[in-house]
Amino acid sequence: MKKITRRQLGYMAGAAGVAAVGTLTFGRAAIAQGSAKVVVVGGGAGGATVANKIKAAAPNLDVTLVEANPAFTTCFFSNLYLGGLVSFDDITHDYKNISDLGVKVVHDWAEDVDTAAKVVKLKGGTQLPYDRLVLSPGIELKYDSVPGYSKEAAELMPHAWQAGAQTKLLKAKLEAMDDGGLVVLAAPPNPYRCPPGPYERMCMIAHYLKTAKPKSKLILFDPKTKFSKQGAFMEGFKAHYADIIEVNLTDEIDSYALTRVDPKTGEIETASGRKEKADVANIVPAQRAGLIAHRAGCAEGDWCPTNPENMSSTKVENVYVLGDASVATEMPKSAFSANSQAKVVAADILAELAEKKKFPPRFRNTCWSAIAPKDGIKVGANYTPGEKEGKPALVAKDSFVSKPGEPVGLREETFTESFGWYSGIVSDIFAKPA
Ligand SMILES: Cc1cc2nc3c(=O)[nH]c(=O)nc-3n(C[C@H](O)[C@H](O)[C@H](O)COP(=O)(O)OP(=O)(O)OC[C@H]3O[C@@H](n4cnc5c(N)ncnc54)[C@H](O)[C@@H]3O)c2cc1C
Repeated sequence: MKKITRRQLGYMAGAAGVAAVGTLTFGRAAIAQGSAKVVVVGGGAGGATVANKIKAAAPNLDVTLVEANPAFTTCFFSNLYLGGLVSFDDITHDYKNISDLGVKVVHDWAEDVDTAAKVVKLKGGTQLPYDRLVLSPGIELKYDSVPGYSKEAAELMPHAWQAGAQTKLLKAKLEAMDDGGLVVLAAPPNPYRCPPGPYERMCMIAHYLKTAKPKSKLILFDPKTKFSKQGAFMEGFKAHYADIIEVNLTDEIDSYALTRVDPKTGEIETASGRKEKADVANIVPAQRAGLIAHRAGCAEGDWCPTNPENMSSTKVENVYVLGDASVATEMPKSAFSANSQAKVVAADILAELAEKKKFPPRFRNTCWSAIAPKDGIKVGANYTPGEKEGKPALVAKDSFVSKPGEPVGLREETFTESFGWYSGIVSDIFAKPA
């Protein structure tokens, strides 16, 4: 992966670390209940951050991180892997440093939670009692939201929306396709993990096709009428990939929601009546909170409502839900958001268990997207607890977004900045030395 400078790392520390500054300053002697138990389910952007921040600030607390997989491949930057800009190793991280901090890292599947007895039940039979439970399980895919699609079908038409084997599969299919082939990307309906993700993926697949298979085509079918950073993305599609990309957004006449896929033949149909036979189909279905959040009783419909001042569940006591699984109102489902929310959760738990005064939470998000090498864009905001439609909510302020027509130099700076962000955030999530 491209090396980053000290200056970029400094930028990163200021960006992702902003929520933590001044919050995790508890004296070790102040932890009143040394044996209190914190269980965190999900070792991704949210959960791994919570576990390592709590343990680092209060080594006496008993912190267990339950994660199904031995290593974590980040969805963030997985599009750049598809585009050939980073390697699979660059985006895969282990739990050694978190474990070295003293967090008990358990690789198992959390099957159920008895919230009355305050116990998490693991598939392997272990039962983990908790004083505070943190759920950051990410998303579950609603395969049946696309007629003909299923978990099995995803082996032929990958979603690659949970990174790892699926991401490798999509890349392998692109590499196996002949020049002149057709790739179809079906974007999901709102709300979903990473609002700019499908459009960055369009760019990175198109970048691969442009460099390796220039006679190929890439079609987007989108059930939505608009999308994140649309102006800058549309400009980028035209500037870099005009001969490759075709965009189909839903409008008042035509809907590009999928009505049928046939994984065996590659056929794809939309509500507008459009039919295509894809050589490579990347189908991203609708999503909901990870299963364990539903099992714990934290969900209302697909997602888990939370109190905006600390991400605690509005439905179950002593449980926090953060990251993609949560309803964070105006805060998008991103790794930056999950990492920022994690610091608020960690500080809240430390304050609760040490009976310290609570601090005013600070949330922040920025999502960078790669349009092409040296052409990056971003969108972001700060978020504070407030009200929306008469209900408690996380409300955006100081928002910003890359505009069409920006100077080439600024785009290059934004692209470089995104590499600094990636290095910094994975250090923060997985407790790696920066
Ligand atoms: C293509 C793509 C590009 C993206 N790009 C960006 C980007 O540039 N910037 C950005 O900020 N975000 C980006 N994101 C979004 C980001 O990846 C997610 O928002 C973020 O990972 C959410 O963090 P999380 O902790 O909620 O879930 P995750 O990071 O998914 O972590 C959840 C973890 O929980 C584990 N788990 C789930 N259930 C259980 C269980 N029952 N038992 C044990 N373990 C369990 C899973 O194995 C997983 O490791 C992107 C996403 C995609 C798909």
